[in-house]
Amino acid sequence: MRKPFICGNWKMNTNRAEAVALAEAAAATAADVPAVEVGACPPACYLEAVLAAAQGTPLVVGGQNMYVEPKGAFTGEIAGPMLADLGCTYVILGHSERRHVFGEPDDLISKKVKAAFEVGLKPILCVGELIDQRRAGETESVVRRHVTTGFEGLTTQQAADVVIAYEPVWAIGTGETATPDQAQEVHAFLRRLLADLYDARLARAVRIQYGGSVKPENARDLMAQADIDGALVGGASLKADSFAAIISGAAQAKGP
Ligand code: PEP
Repeated sequence: MRKPFICGNWKMNTNRAEAVALAEAAAATAADVPAVEVGACPPACYLEAVLAAAQGTPLVVGGQNMYVEPKGAFTGEIAGPMLADLGCTYVILGHSERRHVFGEPDDLISKKVKAAFEVGLKPILCVGELIDQRRAGETESVVRRHVTTGFEGLTTQQAADVVIAYEPVWAIGTGETATPDQAQEVHAFLRRLLADLYDARLARAVRIQYGGSVKPENARDLMAQADIDGALVGGASLKADSFAAIISGAAQAKGP
């Protein structure tokens, strides 16, 4: 059984006090809704404050990115061992903003996935097509490339610990959401792909989140889809009540 996972990606938002308040609220919701794993990925400079707020609660915390090398002359970067040292559980890798704003290529993201596992961090590997790629009928080939390169060289055990976030780029921060059917179609394709790359058991085990303008109004219908195992939430995770409503929606959709 895959435990639904709702994770907030706060991007370059909040100040310290807001980050702590959001973390405290998310931690309270996580305690109230144990059927759902709840995570928060704050800006790196607030990780320590958020981790302190999460301590002793079920809230899990992740970095929004990391560099591939463990240390050295890489001004402005954060290393995997640093995230692990702070107590992070997850790290988002290959987010569309990293791919398309900062130009991160597939092979760098693939190396980062392996570097994350070397220090015990679980990657949330983001995959997804641009609108032109969807219109050109390339959605499956794009996400196949993202997953195939992202999982390259992983053991079956490591592969089972990757969380995939399917995030159609045209739906991120735009208010435009994939319909539940559109998202489910891609999620089912990704699960078939994992079965081809590994085996049916692994494909059943990997959690695949949806991301792209998830809100309280659409969370329940998206999470009701068989292959959608949670959400990576940007904008709506910056309001404690919206984030809590998305978590409750996931619990209701996946509940008995
Ligand atoms: C994201 O940043 O991963 C995301 C899905 O953002 P939003 O929910 O704002 O579309």
